Amino acid sequence: MFAKNLRCIKCDTVFGLVPIALCSRCGNILDVEYNYAEVFRYLSERGLGDDGVTGIWKYQALLPSALDNPISLGESDTPLHRCLHLGTQYDMESLYVKDETRQPSGSFKDRPIAVATNKALEFGVDTVVTASSGNAGAAVGAYASKAGLRCVIFVPATVPSAKLIQMSMYGGNIIGVKGSYSDAYQLAGRAAALLGWYNITTTFVSPYPTEGNKTVAYELAQQLQWDVPDWILVPIGTGPLLVGIYKGFSELRRLGLVDGMPKMIGVQALGCSPIARAYDLGHDEVSEWASPPETIASGIADQLTSYTQDGTYTLRVIRKSGGLVIAVPDQEILDAAVSLATGEGIFAEPTAAASLAAAKALRQRGVINSSDKVVCLVTGNGLKDMAAYESILVHPQVVNPDVDMHRVKDIADGEGK
Ligand SMILES: *Cc1c(COP(=O)(O)O)cnc(C)c1O
Ligand SMILES: [Zn+2]
Repeated sequence: MFAKNLRCIKCDTVFGLVPIALCSRCGNILDVEYNYAEVFRYLSERGLGDDGVTGIWKYQALLPSALDNPISLGESDTPLHRCLHLGTQYDMESLYVKDETRQPSGSFKDRPIAVATNKALEFGVDTVVTASSGNAGAAVGAYASKAGLRCVIFVPATVPSAKLIQMSMYGGNIIGVKGSYSDAYQLAGRAAALLGWYNITTTFVSPYPTEGNKTVAYELAQQLQWDVPDWILVPIGTGPLLVGIYKGFSELRRLGLVDGMPKMIGVQALGCSPIARAYDLGHDEVSEWASPPETIASGIADQLTSYTQDGTYTLRVIRKSGGLVIAVPDQEILDAAVSLATGEGIFAEPTAAASLAAAKALRQRGVINSSDKVVCLVTGNGLKDMAAYESILVHPQVVNPDVDMHRVKDIADGEGK
């Protein structure tokens, strides 16, 4: 293993690779550091991703697991689609979608949770706990099953029903909280502190899950033949996916595998957008979103209550990259989800389509140029939140088995009403 220690992003205190959550000195976020000289030597013999194993573990040189055979459900290796129809519609010559809808549990959360679950195995814990808006819980359920670990999942009681059913199928102990994601987050933290469970919530409360998100960058660079996108758009709640992708590209540059760096765009839903608000106000510090979230993008409806430092960290990374944060209204998210399905054949949950809604808006405002190379992360599968689309469902025409074919033709031509 080339990971060597944890370092606090604020006070620089260094810790070993232990089951610690936040910096015990100042309470801020811990980041995993590697011995890059050794990684470089190792990769110059084999090349990146040539470890002959499946899932994210083909990048084990840049991941913090000391296990010889980490467990995997075949996460990662998701397609990068060039979107010709949407590109024409949005006036973008090089629009790509990184399709995380087809991860083992249907969202990108399998990447961070694969890493975190293997750390749990390595640390010898018997119970993992997480807070979740639904997708992280499903991923934890799946990987805990594979690993033979017990899991406890705190979700807001309003979690979309399909996500709840998926989570319960994996056999996890699900606890609904009368409140928001932030309330679930605080309960997971208290349970970890008082009951000794290992907290693998995919915010920045643990240093390990974020590392799994770096693998998006490694895949993107390879899929684009080591070219770097101008912009990468990522739906963000607290932002570990965005931060992980940026860290992944920094590592690739450090290892001499790519030349440039992408500009990162964080995408929030207008009805819960604390990071976008801080960006708009020019603040360095993010403050919590006091009112209840009002959006169909439940996967990013994060008020950051009691952990605003996570938003502050993500905002700092976004500014450093030369990028920006944008909040998009639900109607534009719905429109983008429909365009993505009808134009490109990809069915995404609302949260996941937010990146495309943002790409469209930023192209219209001239922030993104038509010749820019743009990658949108489509983070979760549409099957996970079918209820969100019921309001726009087009009910099928119902016919008798002996229906006249002229009538069928009229229906297909859109004249059947
Ligand atoms: C969790 C989640 C996000 C937000 O990711 P963070 O890195 O936690 O901010 C985006 N999209 C989907 C579908 C998610 O489940
Ligand atoms: Zn510290």
